[in-house]
Amino acid sequence: MERTFAIIKPDAVKNGVTGQILARIEQQGFRIVAMRLQHLSRSDAAGFYHVHREKPFFGGLTDFMSSAPCVLLCLEAPDAIRAWRALMGATNPANAEPGTMRKDFGASIDNNATHGSDAPETAAFELSYFFRGMELA
Ligand code: ATP
Ligand code: MG
Repeated sequence: MERTFAIIKPDAVKNGVTGQILARIEQQGFRIVAMRLQHLSRSDAAGFYHVHREKPFFGGLTDFMSSAPCVLLCLEAPDAIRAWRALMGATNPANAEPGTMRKDFGASIDNNATHGSDAPETAAFELSYFFRGMELA
């Protein structure tokens, strides 16, 4: 079993598709280990996306991520990191396959509905950034 960190981003929560996304997560065989609704501050978002701090889109990204509440999740499944990235689809919804989260619920590269960790090291950092050990027991 493997764990990954996922976010239902502010656009998806505002659009009222949290339930549909959670249903797909469960239908695809992930176990929800931990889950919390949280309105991130700009600094929460900047710390989370620190690897992108030099990118031109960083300001827009942290504004967006702190614009409204998100749903923060720890998901568990065999090969969870890769499986959740596959279910999310390409970063830009325009390039994502039908049936993926980003194609079905994302509007643009800025408003792309979901986040998923991209490697075991980032999953470990991101899970510990948002969840306490006892929440992940
Ligand atoms: P995420 O980390 O959110 O799961 P990702 O791993 O598919 O997405 P990253 O390269 O980590 O993509 O980029 C993080 C986020 O920054 C993307 O989800 C997207 O909203 C935004 N982003 C990435 N590239 C661009 C870009 N060229 N222009 C605008 N926004 C971008
Ligand atoms: Mg990423």
